[in-house]
This record gives sequence, structure tokens and C-alpha cells, in this order.
Amino acid sequence: MLARWRRWRDARFAARHPFPADTWAEARARLPLLAALTDDEAERLGLRAWAFVHAKRLSLHPALVDTPFDPPARLALAGQACLLTLGWSEAEHREAFANVHEILILPEAFERHVEEMDEAGVMHEYADERAGETSYQGPVVVAYPDLMESGDFSGFNVLIHELAHKLDLGNSQDVDGFPPLPRDIAARDWHRVFTAVWDDLQARLAHGEDTPIDDYAASHPGECFAVCCEHFFSAPDLLIDAYPELYALLARYFQQDPLARLPQDGDGSSPSDSQSHSASAASRG
Ligand SMILES: [Zn+2]
Repeated sequence: MLARWRRWRDARFAARHPFPADTWAEARARLPLLAALTDDEAERLGLRAWAFVHAKRLSLHPALVDTPFDPPARLALAGQACLLTLGWSEAEHREAFANVHEILILPEAFERHVEEMDEAGVMHEYADERAGETSYQGPVVVAYPDLMESGDFSGFNVLIHELAHKLDLGNSQDVDGFPPLPRDIAARDWHRVFTAVWDDLQARLAHGEDTPIDDYAASHPGECFAVCCEHFFSAPDLLIDAYPELYALLARYFQQDPLARLPQDGDGSSPSDSQSHSASAASRG
């Protein structure tokens, strides 16, 4: 009965909102991340992105009233969001984003007042500049300049980062780096692989060494998951070189192999740029 209802609903949606193939082609032409998809992947992602555009509210801050955000830009945004769940069934995709109600675009990176207790029990207060943030049932908030910088293979993608937090929030109200797992991935395996990455990042930082992935991953287990998701999709070669076991785990989790899609010639956005880029970007929040 449910399946029949879904088919009826999908048919009605398709009849009322015919898929804009030209707009999707333009969206793909703008973003290397989407241009790299195979034809089959692009077709499936396009349909999901089109449904996403209608199912979720997209809000622009009033200060962006004169900023061009045309239909291809909207579809490109939705396409990046739905890229995360592209390897999952339609039902799993809908379920994963059930807690995404609104995407809010702000004109600039924004500041948050942060209070943090350190291990010695001392409270630290500071202003944290953020490119994005999200919460359990709150909107996905992204800064326009960072959104515009997302979509290539540089390792930075504020939208994928924030939506990874939404996946993380699928089983609790706290971001903890532990999203709901498919049956074939044991929680202990997830914990072991991510703990090894976490420990390696902490050890390198303690020794004053560079980290192979954006060191924002070392700030919190939830950020570790979100940054690894960003790299998985937009700098897969960097991630597999640094942490092959983690790449393999995420490939099983997402049911995707972004490394196979990575353009061979690199069109001006090689993953080796990611470290310098990350250093200049506001933290994703
Ligand atoms: Zn974050």
C-alpha cells in the first residue's frame, strides 16, 4: 500500500513539475563535482535534486536580494546535498534527510560566541567565525561565499560538511561522529577506524606537525566525521592516501567510490590546494 502511494505521489510530482533537463545540465556544467558523475549517476542525482528543491525550503538572507541565485544555482546546491545519499535507496535518502527542513544562505561567514571548558576545568570564551552550522531540527546555515567556493575537487565543501552533520544527527540530538549505520557496518569497526584517525591527528598536532587532512577534523569527533565526508567526496585521493581504511569504510557507508570519478587532468582545482584553502576558510561549524 505504501509503495503504491509512493508511486502515485512520485508520478503526480513528475506531472506537475517536469524535470528541467537544461537547468540540470547547466548546474552540472558549473560544478566539477557534478560534472564528474557518470550519466546514470547524473540522471538519478538530478531527479533527487529536483525533488529536494521542492521538498526543502531554500531561504536567502534579505541582504542577498540582489545576489544572483538562479534555478541552475538552486539545482546545483540540491545536487551537492543529494550527492551524499546518491548510493542509497530512495527510501533511505528520504529518511536520511527527514531532519533537513530548510537551507538558509547568509551573506558572509558569521560569528558565534563560544564557551568551552578545557581539560583543566578552565572556561574559555571566544568568537568563532563560521562558514556554516546546523543543529538537530534547525536549518542548515551556510555562508554565500563559502557556498560559491564549494563544488570542486579542492577538499572544501560547506554544504557536504553541514549535511554530514545532519546525517550524524539522525540517531541523537548531539553531533558525535556516529550516524545511524547500515546493518553491514559494525559500530565497533566504525569506532575503531575513526578513533585511529582521531588519535593520529591529535598526535601530529601535539608534535607540531602538519595534518594530512584539514586539522578542523581534530577539533571534535563530529567535525572529524564531517571533514572526512567533505574530503571523501571532494578530495578522495587525498583521503585515501592519508587514511585508506577510513576511505574504505566511508565507501561502504555511502555505497560510493568518488575516487573513480575524480577527473584525471584536474581542471585547476587539484586536491593539493585543499590545505592552503582550508587554512584561509572559516571553520564550518
Ligand atoms: Zn562542522
